[in-house]
Amino acid sequence: MGGGGGGGGGGGRRPSTKRGTMDRKISIVVPAFNEEKSIPVLHGRITKAMEGLSYEVIFVDDGSSDGTAEVLKGIAGRDRRVKGIRLRKNCGKATAYSAGFGYASGEVVVTMDADLQDDPAEIHRFLEKLDEGYDLVNGWKYKGKGSPVRAFASTVFNRVTARLTGIALHDFNCPFKAYRREVVGELVLYGDLFRFIPVLVSDRGYRIGEVTIENYPREHGRSRYGVARYIRTLFDLVTVLFLTRFKKSPLYFFGSIGLAMALLGFLIDLYLTYQKAFHGMLLSQQPLLLLGILLIVLGVQFTSIGLITEMIVSISHEGGRVRSLIREVIGGERGDVG
Ligand code: UDP
Ligand code: MG
Repeated sequence: MGGGGGGGGGGGRRPSTKRGTMDRKISIVVPAFNEEKSIPVLHGRITKAMEGLSYEVIFVDDGSSDGTAEVLKGIAGRDRRVKGIRLRKNCGKATAYSAGFGYASGEVVVTMDADLQDDPAEIHRFLEKLDEGYDLVNGWKYKGKGSPVRAFASTVFNRVTARLTGIALHDFNCPFKAYRREVVGELVLYGDLFRFIPVLVSDRGYRIGEVTIENYPREHGRSRYGVARYIRTLFDLVTVLFLTRFKKSPLYFFGSIGLAMALLGFLIDLYLTYQKAFHGMLLSQQPLLLLGILLIVLGVQFTSIGLITEMIVSISHEGGRVRSLIREVIGGERGDVG
């Protein structure tokens, strides 16, 4: 984990000796929902920041109802490096990212928001960090985000996520990120899972680095996400923990709960049976009997759910997924394997 990593940059942009990410094509993916005012400004800033580099910008119009589509048509008409992908309806940022990633042809993919809160001039610092050997470089808005309430919620979210996942990042949901191509190809994003991208990426064994960045206030319009985000994020955290921790062996999770319940139920009923057999206890007056039966039934159900989930997992484990877990193959020539 590449904690901190602030300063950086400074000198010449192109490390001339080694072929680094800056010599490769970079795809900048920008989800945009009703951002007609911001897009032209962002495009101007990107053009300035990326001068001399090989790049493309993919704006994903996430079902905007303002003039975003027209603005994109205008810009794409003038600048061939710009592509606009229009979603039929507002699908959310995760789907917008997926759509954009599908069209990204660069070896490096950078994501940033359309609302001018991220500054394209900082892209080169992400690229330098990638060159240090990371697969994903995550931004960290180290000066906090927006209002005190939002800053507090964000801190809690990041601390809890870091603790529960064991990933030492400060700003999981930072929209400013840089990836190696293959990382993006594997990301399965839907719903609001974009907040947990580093967790999903790390689960695939990729190395994650971090760079500190500035946070600028939104220049036009308001945040597209309201208070509901906090509740949804809580559920998403459970989903992500489950997907990354138990997906490979759901029976461990459901089975251990089921077994504990069934065992407790069995012991209770065994005790009651003993009392009835040897001390003539009347079971009709024993509420414990119901509890015992309930625990056994629930225990069996939990275990069955675990088995069914195991079946689903085994069906969805195609060989291709294993191949993508290989970082490199050392030695040997192609075709000389016996
Ligand atoms: N966005 C999107 N689809 C949505 C909501 C937002 O593509 O349904 C885009 C939005 O245009 C912006 C980025 O996602 O570029 C982040 O949105 P916003 O600034 O509203 O969120 P915040 O920064 O407050 O988390
Ligand atoms: Mg924003």
